[in-house]
Amino acid sequence: MDTHILQNWFDTYKEVSLFGRYITLDHISPLLDLLSLKTEIEQIGFSENNASIDLIKLGSGSKKLLFWSQMHGNESTTTKAVFDLLNFFTDVSNDLAKTILKECTIYIIPILSPDGAKAYTRLNFNQVDLNRDAQQKTQKESIVFSKLVERIQPDFAFNLHGQRTIFSAGETKYPATVSFLSPASDLERSITPSRKIAMEIIAKMNTVLQQFIPNQVGRYDDGFNLNCVGDTLASMGIPTILFEAGHYSNDYDREITREYIFYSLITSIEYITTTQITGDRYKDYFSIPENGKCFYDVIIRDVMLKGENVDIAVQYSEELIKNSVKFIPKIVKIGDLQKFYGHREIIGKKRAIYNENVTVEIVPEAMLLKFHLNSELFLIESTKS
Ligand SMILES: [Zn+2]
Repeated sequence: MDTHILQNWFDTYKEVSLFGRYITLDHISPLLDLLSLKTEIEQIGFSENNASIDLIKLGSGSKKLLFWSQMHGNESTTTKAVFDLLNFFTDVSNDLAKTILKECTIYIIPILSPDGAKAYTRLNFNQVDLNRDAQQKTQKESIVFSKLVERIQPDFAFNLHGQRTIFSAGETKYPATVSFLSPASDLERSITPSRKIAMEIIAKMNTVLQQFIPNQVGRYDDGFNLNCVGDTLASMGIPTILFEAGHYSNDYDREITREYIFYSLITSIEYITTTQITGDRYKDYFSIPENGKCFYDVIIRDVMLKGENVDIAVQYSEELIKNSVKFIPKIVKIGDLQKFYGHREIIGKKRAIYNENVTVEIVPEAMLLKFHLNSELFLIESTKS
């Protein structure tokens, strides 16, 4: 699809009431109320702390697509893109949206872990990672989800996640702004017919994304773990696609990445709608570089620390403070970091970093990382969302 059309659609359909990293049921409830006037919304169950788990249903076609987002509560970028997509679907004047909804039935769980979303954590209310509970199903959310899969028997599954800033697309200086995976369905990681279908769809999305963010698409490791939801669905023969919304330069609110997720969603759904996908064109999937871990948020390069020439890596830890996500800088490594890249780099030119005790001072109440290079004072501020 033409990149300008996609860009225009994003501008048109972006759900402006959702912004930044902290997205909870409170944020999406007014949108669900409005949507319920236009399409079917079903409460399919409750979380461990009794929050509602909702399913949005659109269209009436024979191809059944299931999407779920925020199975990890702090991975909210795909949820924002899902609501952008919902605005696209509910625009009755959009011809592609109409065609899709004639050919497909779209099922969307916008937040599978509402408790995790509220607490801004990967884990649910009982501190369980729902993406390791696919087999045992010890948690209510896992049971709700697996019952839904059993009931609707999706033809395609979209497992929507977000990833940390550390990932690069390959062992390169390019961040993995979007990563995909066709999860394995057995220990041998066999390339089964349903995996080929998922791979072909991913390859299609990659072709489109390369026009926007060349070299910034990665492929996640396909090590098999049946406790993961994607691997379980893949083992059931359902073509499954894992999305990982990642980092784009300076975009800690993930508002730019959100746009690329929107493009990916539209591209994949259009492809499914208009193509009888055989999986024959799966090979391009393997041209996508595997995710590397080449990034830190900040690298302070080439400074003298206690007489030694070192690099210092800083990583932001994301903490929910008064209903807002703060990014608090923490020193995570001191040493030779030539093989790594910083999303921001500060060049020390062998100047001495000094401070009385620890050389680099973290001021938590101000959420600053403060250090001196000779007489120059550097402050690395936290950002907030
Ligand atoms: Zn995740």
